[in-house]
Amino acid sequence: MSVPTIKLNDGSEVPVIAIGTGTALFGRDCANAIQLAIECGVTHLDGAQAYGNEASLGAGIKAAGKPRSDLYVVTKLKPGTKAADVKSSLVDSLNKLGLDFVDLFLIHTPSRDGTVQEIWQAMEAVHAEGLAKSIGVSNFTVDDLKAILPRAKVIPSVNQLEIHPYVWKAVEPIVKYGRENGGITCSSFGGLSPLIRAPRRTRRPVTPAQVLFKWILQKGAFVVTTSSKEARIKEYLEVSHVPDLTAEEIQAIDNAGAKQHKRFFGKQIFGD
Ligand code: NDP
Repeated sequence: MSVPTIKLNDGSEVPVIAIGTGTALFGRDCANAIQLAIECGVTHLDGAQAYGNEASLGAGIKAAGKPRSDLYVVTKLKPGTKAADVKSSLVDSLNKLGLDFVDLFLIHTPSRDGTVQEIWQAMEAVHAEGLAKSIGVSNFTVDDLKAILPRAKVIPSVNQLEIHPYVWKAVEPIVKYGRENGGITCSSFGGLSPLIRAPRRTRRPVTPAQVLFKWILQKGAFVVTTSSKEARIKEYLEVSHVPDLTAEEIQAIDNAGAKQHKRFFGKQIFGD
């Protein structure tokens, strides 16, 4: 099954559903989960240096035996890495992953000590060298984007953010700012939080995960999720065949989410 793609501002195409190796897989060997995901048809894999499992992500990729050109592999710069160490950290990631390049390299979290601009320049340098086909950021607010955009030679392609109805009011201005300032596409993590992290879980006969992912896709972001279960991975990949939510349905979800703000990741970054 081929997954639809979103075109980034640098012309590259990203499959809209990714399986990540953080959260539930953080610090754990993810080789089997990744092999399973690829065998189910997942082509977009979201890793990070901070997850401490890039070598097993690489092992899962190798075990699945798919051509490199069929895969879209992401990693993220470990928070706290200095600009001077960006290239060596990426080379280390590539060695662990067993790859010559990543498709997307993200700054995992904004550094707010005045160095973010030079870190971005180091990201531009690894991009120019071809070690990362696209570069972007994660957990960046509008102010964090403003700290790099004026002097950026390469506009970030992606800003990876927590996106679900409970944070949409807070996140929408960031999504909008990125779209209007260089066409930055947002990628979403934690998209299932209303189902699995909110105090009261709701179970409905339709698949709630598909509704949440559909809502995210119709907001113009793509989805980074995690699953170790074949049935769930297949359910997620089917999302592109689910009919679009109506404007009324999207508005109803927006309204329900806006009643209570709940962020599950990066509270210290966003301050809410
Ligand atoms: P989601 O919110 O999509 O949640 C996925 C998790 O939900 C999986 O562990 C899955 O477990 C579980 N799940 C799915 N359905 C149910 C259900 N019905 N009942 C109970 N549990 C369920 O995404 P994540 O929060 O896991 O994040 C996805 C990825 O995003 C991470 O792996 C990471 O790559 C990235 N990320 C990035 C961050 C950043 O700062 N840039 C921060 C956080 C995440 P199961 O295996 O059982 O299906």
